[in-house]
Order: sequence, then C-alpha cells, then structure tokens
Amino acid sequence: MDRISWDQYFMAQSHLLALRSTCTRLTVGATIVRDKRMIAGGYNGSITGSDHCIDEGCYVIDNHCVRTIHAEMNAILQCAKFGVPTENAEIYVTHFPCLQCCKAIIQAGIKKVYYAEDYKNHPYGIELFQQAGVSLKKVPFDQQQLDVKATEKNDLIKKLLAEIKDLKGENALYDQLKEEVETILK
Ligand SMILES: [Zn+2]
Ligand SMILES: [Zn+2]
Repeated sequence: MDRISWDQYFMAQSHLLALRSTCTRLTVGATIVRDKRMIAGGYNGSITGSDHCIDEGCYVIDNHCVRTIHAEMNAILQCAKFGVPTENAEIYVTHFPCLQCCKAIIQAGIKKVYYAEDYKNHPYGIELFQQAGVSLKKVPFDQQQLDVKATEKNDLIKKLLAEIKDLKGENALYDQLKEEVETILK
C-alpha cells in the first residue's frame, strides 16, 4: 500500500476546498498547517451572507473580482476569528498567492508556502518572502493519488483501446479515442 505524502495530503485538502469556491474566474483553496495538522482552510468566496459571483456575476474592477476574499485570507481570518496562532505555520495553496496575500502570509508569521500551480507569480511577492525568510516550494498536485483504483482504470482503458484497434475498419475511431485517452491520462 502506498501512503500519500504529507505534501500531497495537504495539497489535496486545498484542492478539495477550491471546489467550494463561489467565484467563476478562478477557484482557489488554502490550508494552514502546524505540526502536520490542518488548523484552518479557506477558499475564495464572498463575505458570509453576501451575494455570490456564481449567482450575481463577478464584481470586476481593474480586471480583479473585488467581491471575494481570497482563500489564503479566509484561512488566516478563520484563525483570527477562533484565536488560533499562525506563527511558524505552513500554508498549502492551489495557486501562487497574489501580492496582498503574500504580505498577509508573511505578517501572520507563516514560514513555508507550498503552491501547486504558478499564477502570475509577483516578483515583489517573491522578494518579500525571501526577505522574511519564508520558504517557497512548488508541489504539483497529483490528482490520481486520490483515486484508489486509478491503476486498474488506466489498465482497463488501455485494454479497451487495444480491443478497438483490432476491430476491422475502426481505425478512425481508434485514432480519435487514443487521442482522447492520451489527453486525459497524459
Ligand atoms: Zn468573482
Ligand atoms: Zn490573494
């Protein structure tokens, strides 16, 4: 049995949180961790009780949706609300944080930032992280680890594909399906 790594485990939690996002422009999740325990999580969404982008559309000013609080901020504010220290904590985010969130992360005393995807990585944000001694690590998220039958499914798809290849006169179908399979399985 292959155990999921801590990095993939916390990154999976952030991707799960991102599925709760209410902004249609980008879905982001963030998980704050201390001593290998999740202490808070957030996703980008509206103020509690306010209109959601998915219902009312985004409120865009200067190419930014201003309706939402970012995932990282929501996670940090959750700690503030319930009095949970963030000093020396770590944060796992689906996307590289925006400049405002970079500053909030540093100011909250968070010391490590793990991100799955690059997203307009701001050079000043990177500089501030370096000055503050906050380490940055890219941890690409491997979704297949969440599927316990991933290997079996992949093998079955390849088997079915091979069966189609052997059917006479189905070359066009085979080529098309092969392309689709390669896109999904990569
Ligand atoms: Zn929005
Ligand atoms: Zn942000």
